[in-house]
Parts: sequence; structure tokens; C-alpha cells
Amino acid sequence: MKILITGGAGFIGSAVIRHIINNASDSVVNIDKLTYAGNLESLASIESNERYLFEQVDICDRAELERVFNTHTPDAVMHLAAESHVDRSITGPVDFIQTNIVGTYTLLEATRAYWNGLSDQAKKVFRFHHISTDEVYGDLPHPDEVESSEELTLFTETTPYAPSSPYSASKASSDHLVRAWLRTYGLPTIVTNCSNNYGPYHFPEKLIPLVILNALDGKPLPIYGKGDQIRDWLYVEDHARALYKVVTQGKVGETYNIGGHNEKQNIEVVKAICSILDTLAPKDTPYAEQITYVTDRPGHDRRYAIDATKISNELNWQPEETFETGLRRTVEWYLNNQEWCQHVQDGSYQRERLGI
Ligand code: NAD
Repeated sequence: MKILITGGAGFIGSAVIRHIINNASDSVVNIDKLTYAGNLESLASIESNERYLFEQVDICDRAELERVFNTHTPDAVMHLAAESHVDRSITGPVDFIQTNIVGTYTLLEATRAYWNGLSDQAKKVFRFHHISTDEVYGDLPHPDEVESSEELTLFTETTPYAPSSPYSASKASSDHLVRAWLRTYGLPTIVTNCSNNYGPYHFPEKLIPLVILNALDGKPLPIYGKGDQIRDWLYVEDHARALYKVVTQGKVGETYNIGGHNEKQNIEVVKAICSILDTLAPKDTPYAEQITYVTDRPGHDRRYAIDATKISNELNWQPEETFETGLRRTVEWYLNNQEWCQHVQDGSYQRERLGI
């Protein structure tokens, strides 16, 4: 296949491209606007492969998208381009509305125009895979609030949407648009909703890389509120494998939830990073002494957790990395890739708190 990937210079998109180029025989066309979150250095290991091609394109630019479709004639689209940081969406929602909603709409329309011109056979095998988040479902009961563990429900593919932040609301909107383009126009779409990812090449505004880099710099490790918010963590390479399975084997019209079976409180995650650093980069005092509690994020969801039974049963996908092995690999990667960390922070962002 020739797969058009949007947002391929980002954290997850670059993992998907590295996975496909290294493990499959498909070609990839990566289109990315290269915002602060997009870094071509994350693709350095595969950029000279003849099955890989990059074009700097904004998904809100319909004419450019048409040119890309007509030039490259893809067999599938994997749509990852998005504004993705909740704190930034609180400070300034406009880019989230523009890229996540208007951009997805523009991409759907460009895809539909291209798809309409394909032969009947090519139309049938074409796929539009929309990559979304579990945050569209809102939050789940927290252990603090329930009387029995049976009340600790999980997100399934039929959980009603109840987004809490401008980010998750914009992603929910894009999911609805994708569903409508399937129902109304017959565009062969598939949606995946995944839990929190972590791993190499993660921009250091997100919890895990931020904590690793602040710890190494002797800076405070900010914990929002009490740090008891629960997320279900998935190693990014496990997500990349799941996404490739979905685009190649998933059923049109279906949604698949993807998660790591790793429910952890934020404070547990931060303490685990500190203890790995105590071993790998020891200093006089334990890293955990840098932990500081700060005002919580407005509208902060308390718990997310995914039921990934469907993708496990139907596509035989399971995560390979445990939280312990994945976190250690991640910390090791940041220790060994300080240059990448320096380069991606060369812009205006200096790991300051956003979205208060
Ligand atoms: P990211 O912020 O690291 O990367 C986003 C990429 O999209 C960047 O390369 C950026 O340059 C590009 N981009 C932004 N606006 C664009 C535009 N208008 N046109 C073209 N490119 C544009 O995000 P990520 O963490 O890799 O997430 C990728 C996708 O997966 C997103 O849709 C996100 O909602 C979803 N997701 C993320 C997580 C997570 O934990 N990170 C979990 C579930 C789902």
C-alpha cells in the first residue's frame, strides 16, 4: 500500500512511520505542517528510505491536499495531525478548533473528492483511518468516589461522548465528522481511540518527558492537584503496531479502543521516573525531593481507563511492553538523546506551566 500519514513528524505519527518503514513493505507519504510539535529529526533513522517521502502541508489547505492526493495517489490515509496538548487548549483553543475540526473536515472533503474518482475496486479497498483519543469519553469513576471496585468501569467503544477540555471537545467533533462522512457519503472510515501514550520522541510539555528533563536539570517536578489523577499508559510503539493492524486489517465503520491495561496515578508515574533516575543517573539527593504540588488543571478529568477487548479479540493485538519495561526504556532514551531534546526546545517553549 501507499499510505498518506498526516502529522507524521509528531510523537505518535513518527512512531507509526518508523514502524511501517522498518517492519512492512508499504510506502509512506508524510504530510505535516511542522508546528512546534513536529520534528523531522524524529524521522532521521528512516528519512533516506526510498519508501518514505515528506511534504510540508497544512491539513487546512484544501488546494494543497488535492495536489498531494493527485500526485501520490494513496491507498489509505492515517490521520494523526492535531493540536494535542490539553494545557495549550485551555490557554488558546483557536488552533485546536482550526486544525482538529476544520482541518479534519478539509481532509475528509479532499479525501472524498479523490476517493470518488477511484475505480470501484480501488474504492472498496481504500481506508480513511482517524486516530483519536480516549479523552472524548470524559472521565470515569475514581477509586476515591466508589464503594465497590465493580463501579470502576472502563471506556468501551459504545461509551457516550462527554469531553471536558477544548482539546477533547475538538477531537470529539472530529470523530463525529468522520462518522458522518461514512454514513452520509460512504467513505470507508475506521476510528481508533487510544489512552495516554509515552515513549521516545515525546515533546517535553507532556508529563513523562517533562518530568525526566526537569529532574535532570534539578528543576521542580510539578504535580497537578494531589496527583491522584489516573491514566492508562501505553508505550507508543505498541500503539503504532495497533494502528498498523487497524489500517490493514480493521473493519470499515468500526471503532477500536486501544489501551495499555496500565492504570497509574500521576504521582505514581512521577515517583517511578524518579526511582529509575536514581539508578541510571544517581546524584547526592533522591530525585523525588524535587516533587512540588501545584494548582490543578481546570476541568481536569480524574480517571481514564480503556477496555481493549475488542481489538484484542478481533485483530489479535496486545501491548508487548509492561509499564515498568516501557518506562525504563523511555528514561534511557531521554538520557541518550539529549541533543534531540535540546533541538525541539529551541523555540519559544521553555517547559513553563501552561493552561492555568
Ligand atoms: P503531536 O502533538 O506530537 O503531533 C502532532 C503533529 O501534527 C505534529 O507533527 C504537528 O506538526 C502536526 N500538525 C499540527 N497541526 C497541523 C496541521 N494543521 N496540518 C498538518 N500537520 C499538523 O501529537 P501526538 O501525541 O503524536 O498525537 C497524534 C494523534 O494521536 C493526535 O490526533 C492525538 O489527538 C492522538 N492521540 C494522542 C495520544 C497521546 O497520548 N499523545 C493519545 C491518544 C490519541
